[in-house]
Amino acid sequence: MKFESKTVHAGDRKKAGNFIPVTTPIYTASSYAYESMSQLDRVFGREEPGQSYARYDNPTVNALQELVNELEGGHGTLACSSGMMAMHLSVLAALVDRPKRVVAGHMLYGATTNLLMNVFGALDVETTFADASDLPAFEAAIAKTKPGAVVVESITNPLLRVCALDQIAVMARSANAPLIVDNTFATPMLMRPLELGASIVVHSATKYLAGHGDVLGGLVVSDAEHTEILTTLLRTIGPNLGPFEAYLTMRGIKTLALRMEKQCANARELAAWLAGHPRIERVHFPGDPSHPDAANIQRLLPPNLYGAMVTVELKDAGKTEVFAFMEKLKMIVCATSLGDVHTMMLYPAMSSHRDISPKHRERAGIRDNLVRISTGIEAIEDIIADIDQALGL
Ligand SMILES: *Cc1c(COP(=O)(O)O)cnc(C)c1O
Repeated sequence: MKFESKTVHAGDRKKAGNFIPVTTPIYTASSYAYESMSQLDRVFGREEPGQSYARYDNPTVNALQELVNELEGGHGTLACSSGMMAMHLSVLAALVDRPKRVVAGHMLYGATTNLLMNVFGALDVETTFADASDLPAFEAAIAKTKPGAVVVESITNPLLRVCALDQIAVMARSANAPLIVDNTFATPMLMRPLELGASIVVHSATKYLAGHGDVLGGLVVSDAEHTEILTTLLRTIGPNLGPFEAYLTMRGIKTLALRMEKQCANARELAAWLAGHPRIERVHFPGDPSHPDAANIQRLLPPNLYGAMVTVELKDAGKTEVFAFMEKLKMIVCATSLGDVHTMMLYPAMSSHRDISPKHRERAGIRDNLVRISTGIEAIEDIIADIDQALGL
């Protein structure tokens, strides 16, 4: 089945009693009974598939897991309470029986950097940050530190860099370090890291997968080697996604292909329009032929699907000018998050990269004139008109 067919079929229509629900309902039961004790015994012993207790399994959550597993081409998928929990569980699973060292991309989602430095760091896990788009530098970091895990993002935030995931997967494999890829910005429609050699894929389901600004959730998709340990950790720690959130995420994914196609098309048009605007100094967009990672983008992303994020630098602007611009927007929503059906705008220096010192921000290329746009499904004319009036020329 093709991707868009899987989005509306996988996971659903499991027989329940003598009928088959067309879409998977929300099961809220925390535990399950059987007509015979011997059957309950077999379910507990995982000799027979079935439900026993909500920290182990839930029919609604299982349906979502099956759906995402199909989309990413995984061996096993687990749904978690948030994207951060999905990342936490993945690093934990990778490091259980490996050296307590991580090599990570130097431009990760802010909370992921904090997780590695302040949470795993406090547990004596040492993280080395290196530029994932600079292949020799990244390879040198792996060779030098001999890590137990490698962490990168398929499309980075907010500068939208695209590393050579296929080549980094080879490096990680020869170092016996599982490659963990945060695939939130790309979604499985644009990139499937497991097919490129990664070991574990992480999603913030809060973003494109759920897509409607009404869910906090995360997903971990893994290869055969890591499914068992991830399942054991989830069942022991209990960071499970609730059935309501699983239902909403599944409902959202049914339109993922339609939304992504429209959002990516809007982003392409918006990026082209912004590039010609006199108040815009620079546009960061993976569809730009002069993008620094153009070769990787051409090799790894499907034609015309470059993601739906556009990052811009305003000409002669600092925090005051950027705030004035953002406050003038009438339709576009200025709030944290991305990937929703409505267009959103965020000021990274204030939000995702707030805790990083101005000097480090500048060095990472996150200047005070930088604004990140998550393109929605609205008519492109309305998106452009709103930004145009706010830029006010
Ligand atoms: C939002 C986000 C996360 C964290 O996900 P939550 O659902 O907010 O916990 C991780 N990585 C990326 C790239 C994100 O955009």
